[in-house]
Order: sequence, then C-alpha cells, then structure tokens
Amino acid sequence: LAREPKDYLARLNREQRAAVEHGGGEVAAPLLIIAGAGSGKTSTLAHRVAHLIVKGADPRRILLMTFSRRAASEMTKRVERIAAEVMGDKAAVLTEGLTWAGTFHAVGARLLRDYALEIGLDPAFTIHDREDSADLMNLVRHELGLSKTESRFPAKGTCLAIYSRVVNAQAELEPVLAKSFPWCIGWAQELKTLFATYVEAKQAQNVLDYDDLLLWWAQMCAEPAIAGHLGGRFDHILVDEYQDTNRLQAAILTALKPDGHGLTVVGDDAQSIYSFRAAEVRNILDFPTLFAEPAGIVTLDRNYRSTDTLLAAANAVIGEASERFTKDLWTERRSSEKPRLVTVRDEAEQANHVCEEVLEERERGTLLKHQAVLFRASHHSGPLEIELTRRNIPFVKFGGLKFLDSAHVKDVLAALRFAENPRDRVAGFRVLQLMQGVGPSAASAAIEAMERALDPVLGLQFFKPPARAETDWPAFVELFCGLKGKSAWPADLERVRLWYEPHLDRNHEDAAARRADLLTLEQIAAGYPSRERFLTDLTLDPPDATSDEAGPPHLDEDYLILSTIHSAKGQEWTKVFVLNAVDGCIPSDLAAGEREEIEEERRLLYVAMTRAKDSLHLITPQRFFVHGQAARGDRHVYAQRTRFIPDHILDRFDRTSWPPPSAAAAGRSPQPGIRVDMKARMRGMWR
Ligand code: ATP
Ligand code: MG
Repeated sequence: LAREPKDYLARLNREQRAAVEHGGGEVAAPLLIIAGAGSGKTSTLAHRVAHLIVKGADPRRILLMTFSRRAASEMTKRVERIAAEVMGDKAAVLTEGLTWAGTFHAVGARLLRDYALEIGLDPAFTIHDREDSADLMNLVRHELGLSKTESRFPAKGTCLAIYSRVVNAQAELEPVLAKSFPWCIGWAQELKTLFATYVEAKQAQNVLDYDDLLLWWAQMCAEPAIAGHLGGRFDHILVDEYQDTNRLQAAILTALKPDGHGLTVVGDDAQSIYSFRAAEVRNILDFPTLFAEPAGIVTLDRNYRSTDTLLAAANAVIGEASERFTKDLWTERRSSEKPRLVTVRDEAEQANHVCEEVLEERERGTLLKHQAVLFRASHHSGPLEIELTRRNIPFVKFGGLKFLDSAHVKDVLAALRFAENPRDRVAGFRVLQLMQGVGPSAASAAIEAMERALDPVLGLQFFKPPARAETDWPAFVELFCGLKGKSAWPADLERVRLWYEPHLDRNHEDAAARRADLLTLEQIAAGYPSRERFLTDLTLDPPDATSDEAGPPHLDEDYLILSTIHSAKGQEWTKVFVLNAVDGCIPSDLAAGEREEIEEERRLLYVAMTRAKDSLHLITPQRFFVHGQAARGDRHVYAQRTRFIPDHILDRFDRTSWPPPSAAAAGRSPQPGIRVDMKARMRGMWR
C-alpha cells in the first residue's frame, strides 16, 4: 500500500498544495489555477496528476491537455517521477497508463477514430497540415474559377486563415472579415461558396484539416448520447495554458463535463498570445462562473524562476497594460544584475553580440542548452543562424521551419498518406507528379480512375499513363500495391524511400543530405506502432528542426536554443536574448493601429522576458531588415527601442559607440546566395 504521500507535498507552497489536494483525490468541483509566469502552474499541475494517481485514480481515465506534444511528454515523465517517489516501481506501471496526454488536436484525432463509425466518418481519414489545407483550398479556388476571373481574390493562405478563424471562433463570416480581414469584405459571398465547396471536397476525399479535429469533436459532443459516453471515459480532465484555448476548445470541455466536475484548468491571462488563432482569453476569465457549482480558484504569486531585477522589469512591462492582470509576482531570488538593453548598429552586430555573449556564458559554466535566443518571427533569426554556423556554434531551432516541412520528407509522407487514403487528392497530386511525364491532368485522371474502380489498386493497375511516364509508372504501381497489401510497419517507409531515391538523385544536388533526413524519418517511425499513428502524430505536431527528436541521437551534445516567442511558451532558460526589441518588431508593424493587437504584443514581450532565470538581454538594432512586406520589397528601416520597455528597469549597454567594425562587417545584410548554401550545412549540423 502507498505510504502517506508527504514527500512531494512538502516541497510545494501553501497555495500550490491547496491546488494539488483540491478534492482530496476524488472527482471534485472544477478548479482554476490562475497565476503569473514562473509561479509553478505547470509544476503544480504535474503534482496534481501524480497526487490523483497516488490517491487511486485510474491513469487511463485521466485526460491531460497541453499546448505541444513536447510539453505533454515532459509532463508525463514528471508525473511518473513524482508518483515514483511514493509508489516506487508501481508508479511506472501506472503512468504508462497515462496515455491520454497530448494536444487538443492529437486527442481529438484519436477520439474521432474511435467514434468514427458512430458519426458517419470513415475511420481511415487522413489529416491535412496547414500547407496541405492551403493546397486543397487552392485547388477548390481554381475549380470555382475564383482565381482566374477575380484576379484580386484573396490568396489561398488568406482564404485558409479566414476559414480557420471563423471555425475556431465559432463566429459568422462577416464580422470576422470586418474585424480582421477588412480588405476581403467585398468577397463575402464568394468566400462562402469557396468554403462550402472546400468542406465538400474534404468530405469526398475523407480528409480532415486541423480545425476539423476540433470542429468534429465539438459536433460529436453535441450528440447527447455520445457526449455522455465520451465524458464518462474520463474522471479527470486537466488543461495547461488555458488562456490560449479558443471557443471550440472551451465548448468541448463543457460538453464533456457539463457540471465541471473533474475539470482543472491552469493559465495566466497576462500570457495570452494566440488571439490570431482565435484564442479567447475570456475562456479563463469566465471559467469561475461557468458551472452551476462555482469553481475553486487558486492564485499563486510567488515566482520561483527569475531574479528580483528580472521580475521587476517584466512586471513593469505588464504593469502598463491597459487591462488589469493578476497581481504582481514576487521572488526571493536576489540579484545585482539588471536585465540589459543592448543597442547595436544592425542585425549583423546583433548576431555578433549574441555569439560572443553565449560563448562567454558557456565559459562561465552555463551550457548552451540553458541559453535561448527568442524572436518575434521565424525569419528574424536568419543573420544569427548564419553567424552561429560560421562560428561552429551548434543550435536547434523551435517554431521555425520544421523538419517535416522540407519537400523530400513531405513527398515521402504523401506517398504513405495516399496509400492510407487514395481519396486524399493533395497527397495523390503530390506523389503522382513526382514521376517524370506526369502533370496535373494525368495525376487527376489517375486519381479519378482509382476512385471509379471498386478497388483503387485495380484502378491504378489498369490506368494507362501518358507515354512520357511509361518508364516511371511501373515502379509506382508496384510500390502502391505493396503499401496497400499486407501492412508491414515500419518497413513501408523504407519501401517508399527506395522508390523515391532515384527521384532525389535526379532532382537534387544535395540528394545525400536529403537521403539522410529520410533515414532519420525511419528512425522516428520505428517508435510508432502503426502507419496511421505515425502519420497522425507527425502531421499534428511535427518534430522541430534539429531537435533531438528529429535528429539522430546526439543526445549528449549541447546546443543553443533558438525559438520564436510563441514556441517558447512555458519554458525557462538561465540566460535569454530577445532579438529586435524594437518598434516594428515588437510590436510588429503589422499590428500597428488596433489597440487590442498592440496589447497582445505587449504580452508577447512579457512572455519572452519571463522565460529568463538569471540573465536577460533585450537587443535593439538601430536599423533592421524588413522582408518584402506589401509591395515595398525588402528594405532597411531605422528603429526605435520597443515602446513597452520603461527606462528605469534596465541597464543600458551601447555597442554602437565601440570602434567601428571593418567596412566589410558593417551594414552586412543577409544575401540570398549565402542562405541557400547554408541550408545544407545547417542540416548537416544535426546529423
Ligand atoms: P509559465 O507561466 O511560464 O508556464 P509556470 O507557472 O507554469 O510558468 P513552472 O514552469 O511550473 O511555472 O515553474 C517555474 C519554475 O519554478 C520551475 O523551475 C519549477 O521547478 C520551479 N518551482 C515551482 N514551484 C516551486 C516550489 N514550490 N519550490 C521550488 N521551485 C518551484
Ligand atoms: Mg507553465
């Protein structure tokens, strides 16, 4: 029998402990933990899950939702460690049962397969990532003739963004257009037709896009019989980063647990940064009064992460927000070092500054992976990536170009997906056109022939390819039949690679590097029980470029972390650099104007600053490079430090008064020619 679980409770503070023990291990009234950055929300949530298990809850009946797969797997490990302190080896057995930990989208995908037959969905559906969705949207756009006759019709990406916003916010089209896409208002009618056709196309092809995973889940919950059954599968449902959920997600939670019993949500309204994806901060603010029985509320105000000077700076930034947030955080960690505001001449010098500081800090004993460089948009790290590579400083990048975004990986996955679901046109188009002599019309004819046939394999076998494709065709037919035949996982992936390699060699100079990526993919695949699980997981939450998930096991190696601020959510590092802390970047000049948008940018800076434990550098280049916005093309702009930073809280540090660097180094700007070469090198770095 379990010992009294004193150990792990003893290291919590009073409020954290109250949250962990809320309900005494039983299914209890809803609970909200709302508190500032670094106050131990995530840590408390992990303790709560462990506590529930220690107290006898069945881990298979606990649903834990986080904002990334990485966060989910970290949480699972943590729960297991905590439970093991009390339960010993038994804990491992129990937390292996904690299988329902993941993002809303991943959990949705699993549940939809479980209930597919009940809701008239073919359980073999495949999932489109954003790029696939945009491609399908584009196909439909062309079919409807919108792109031809209406030359100013919104681009495919914009159409998808509008569609996605309407779905996630559960809103009508017109107000969404008026508020966020005013330049598209005139197209409302055409957009409605487009979206209706897009939805039909998805259904005909048996594909779901990201938004469908939530939408279908929510719709499924609207059926009382299914909602009851679904809700009954879980005793406890816990959600981290609740401030960034949208209306659909909130609707799903309340449908699963109409009385709120067993629900725990955790978040920080001051860190809500996803409204551009229809996240709704009202979700967390309204939670206390959502249910018949009022929710228990725990607030935490002690920060354990950062030093006092750092926290003072972060508090000052958020303190000037137009909204009122949960009260100021305090910390016992004293420091004499204030965060620094570093002025540099341009992005090249910014990159130099980061490299020098990172190496110095490394000398002082801080591992590279305990240091992070954060930025507003993925492309902001370009000059830095070049400089890091030049100096042989290894790094990983989160939230930027993903491993799976590379064309060769997408090609191979499309082949698998097409075999899994031959109705998936985006996948079919992609893979068929890899063959020489197969263009859009031949691809489309082949897919139609497969659809008409009783068995797609027969349809393909009897299809007569265009003469120019006759060399490549038989190998594809053989591959497809093999993949449709007796499933051999993960050997299927190797089979696709062997088929694909001649295409690689023919089309790419860096075929060897790409082949290595595919081998990496096979290693990842080996960890999955089935083709379907592999495709689902990778489509929903692809491994980050050069992360240890994606790369072959260099696990003991040390890398500097590069991340967009959005992807840095929930994490912490000893030393943090924020690039381009200037007006125009934070706030982004895309946000300029709308007060709400500006306020979200302020919260974004707050999130960035509160990632740091000991040391923070906000860097402000006097001029920086803006990539081709609107019709203005690439250009340099002269920048002011971000308006969000009050003067007194920072130490100023001016690099621009240093002896001027050599003419060659000054004003260097990223050159497209260099970038192309760097890609192969950078891939090489994590192999
Ligand atoms: P964020 O808002 O950034 O997601 P959070 O509120 O989730 O932050 P955590 O990441 O859980 O905060 O915790 C921040 C740090 O504080 C972690 O290093 C954690 O281990 C530590 N911590 C939390 N609670 C305690 C405690 N009671 N005693 C000591 N350290 C703690
Ligand atoms: Mg957290």
